[in-house]
Amino acid sequence: MTVAENLRIVNEKIQEACRKSGRSPEEVTVIAVTKYVGIERVREAVGCGLLNLAENRKEGLLEKQSAIHDDRIVWHLIGTLQTRKVKDVVGRIDYFHALDRLKLAAELNKRIESGKLKCFIEMNLSGEESKHGIGEDELDSFINELRVFEHIQVVGLMTMAPNTEDTERIRTVFRGLRLCRDRIRNRCLDYAPCTELSMGMSHDFQIAIEEGATFVRIGTSLVGNEWKGS
Ligand SMILES: *Cc1c(COP(=O)(O)O)cnc(C)c1O
Repeated sequence: MTVAENLRIVNEKIQEACRKSGRSPEEVTVIAVTKYVGIERVREAVGCGLLNLAENRKEGLLEKQSAIHDDRIVWHLIGTLQTRKVKDVVGRIDYFHALDRLKLAAELNKRIESGKLKCFIEMNLSGEESKHGIGEDELDSFINELRVFEHIQVVGLMTMAPNTEDTERIRTVFRGLRLCRDRIRNRCLDYAPCTELSMGMSHDFQIAIEEGATFVRIGTSLVGNEWKGS
């Protein structure tokens, strides 16, 4: 399938989810996750107007950026980042979706020369040990501790749903993230406006949108997966 064909289907599903939940599709930004595909497919995506691109690793990000030069592209890093790799990505990304520890925040803050990096705090609400992210009970103190980092702007919260067919369980996790977002947003902190929700991937983005996602991160269903041949 071409990216254009996939995008048409994804857009229809977004519209359906928005209709169901009384939202407007303009509130939802689609991020094309390109980690499973090569440069040609990324070019195709950009040609379809997909200008929010994401990689989950530093290496993939730099590879795509060295091949694709287009000032319209908004680059997202969606995977966790080792502290020693911070210096390689600072200045190259517009959004970082996986802020999950103070040491990482400190290193980012040290390396950013000017301006603010838009960050999502990654949360683990499913309790799965394999997942990154902070727990719900740690959120407020984590937010408090970020106040000293003048180059970090907490724009929202991010999570990955549990790997399950149980859609109600997935929905509960997304709803939980929204409630956490609302709680922080209501504190009206200038360094942490926390208005956004980064949640929903190929298999669960409709549920995420019904529960309030403002950014969905879609790889396989949009650009495909060249390793799996889809
Ligand atoms: C890979 C990845 C995605 C996209 O996954 P698909 O199932 O291919 O849509 C979204 N978010 C994160 C953090 C990822 O690592």
